[in-house]
Amino acid sequence: MNENTHIDIRSLAEHDSFRDNLSTVSRDGKRKWIYPVKPGGKWFNYRAAVAIFFYAIFFITPFIKVHGRPFLQFNFPEGKFILFSYAFWPKDFFIFGLLMLAAIVFIALFTNAFGRIFCGWICPQTIFMEMLFRRVDYLVLGSAQKQRILAKAPWDSQKIRKYSLRYIIYFILSFIIANTFLSYIIGVDQLFIIMTEPVFDHLGGFLAILVFTIVFFSVYAFLREQVCTNICPYGRLQSVLLDKNSVVVAYDYKRGEPRAKFRKNQSESDGDCIDCFACVNVCPTGIDIRNGTQLECVNCTACIDACNFMMEKTGRPKGLIRFDSENNIAEGKKFRFNAKLKGYTAVLTILIAAIVALLITRKNIDGTLMRTSGMLYQERGTDSISNLYNLKLLNKSINRYELELKPDNFEGRVEVVGNSHIKVEGEQETNATLFIVRDKKSIQGRKEKLKIGLYFKGEKVNTIGSTFLGPVHDEEE
Ligand code: SF4
Ligand code: SF4
Repeated sequence: MNENTHIDIRSLAEHDSFRDNLSTVSRDGKRKWIYPVKPGGKWFNYRAAVAIFFYAIFFITPFIKVHGRPFLQFNFPEGKFILFSYAFWPKDFFIFGLLMLAAIVFIALFTNAFGRIFCGWICPQTIFMEMLFRRVDYLVLGSAQKQRILAKAPWDSQKIRKYSLRYIIYFILSFIIANTFLSYIIGVDQLFIIMTEPVFDHLGGFLAILVFTIVFFSVYAFLREQVCTNICPYGRLQSVLLDKNSVVVAYDYKRGEPRAKFRKNQSESDGDCIDCFACVNVCPTGIDIRNGTQLECVNCTACIDACNFMMEKTGRPKGLIRFDSENNIAEGKKFRFNAKLKGYTAVLTILIAAIVALLITRKNIDGTLMRTSGMLYQERGTDSISNLYNLKLLNKSINRYELELKPDNFEGRVEVVGNSHIKVEGEQETNATLFIVRDKKSIQGRKEKLKIGLYFKGEKVNTIGSTFLGPVHDEEE
């Protein structure tokens, strides 16, 4: 029996030589293209169902509108974001920042508990790559073996025809994805305008579609698994996010070792792994999961299906490769909600509570009131003083507001230049100029903090603050 088949996984850990090589780079430093065997089985079916659900959400969401507003939109050029039909502006940046922070903590918590499952099941890169573009390969080029043979074959008419067809389909799919992606940024209406009106009227939009299409095409045609194994920062973080308690796609080395090729009279000392390489051949990142958890593993479960099939064929129990933790495989310790997970959960709970509080207290009308620069105060007759201000109002709702301004914490009056009410259209900003006029006797000091109430139909909708400059009192001199 080959000496290597007797290597215990513990000594394997000490001989981590497989970590010295990248599965997609040859010894002479060239790209090793991966041609994974077409996966199939229970886990693949689950994944296909998740992918269909994802496609439905991804392609339909841009068309969903609530009260004329998109359900989701990330308008970076205008600094406007719409989540669940609620608009968020740069002024709400702290809510958005907290949302991002909560998402990062959630991913860290989830990863610590369940490994890189997000990558294999939810990440758009994997879903499009494995469930769409890879299917095109099987359809146009044939099985993994045929793909490998074709790649090595000279460029004859058959190869040119097949590759051309493959890349044309890739380009069409990339174009559709690029347009959908862009509609999350500028909205479907604007996208429709760009697509139906003359190119030169919307050159920027047209170029954006072209650039996105080329980027997606390049990612799926050439970068492929390199995005997950070398580029994505989340993948690189696995070594710090995972621990022995994490439930990941894992090979049960206690059951599988020592490996031995399948034969009729199997020795009792042989492990269950028949060294058939089905798990390696099906892996889209080209790794051997039997070497242990590796950051290249995207938890796609293709190897579980492949191994289960072999186990069934050879009359062995399924689950030699399964979702499990290193602790459970090595010592039979079940998953525990340990201190690290409790810590992540506590931080996440605090963040979610803060976000909810901010959302509840968020006002539809927001504004800033600044004293006009370079001006002190103006004498109004013999008994009053006024300050001149520039007001900027933002209407975050889709409704039109007609606002009245009233003193909130002082005696005096607010004089809006031009009109007593300020109109702000839905999702618009407006500017106004105003005076705050106060009786000299009510002025307490050189510089006072004042608040103004914003009223809509008699109801206060927000309060904005600024400072008021008065003359220097005798006692201050
Ligand atoms: S090792 Fe298994 S789960 Fe991990 S990427 Fe490869 S096939 Fe998918
Ligand atoms: S598919 Fe299962 S039996 Fe075959 S090599 Fe992989 S772990 Fe061993």
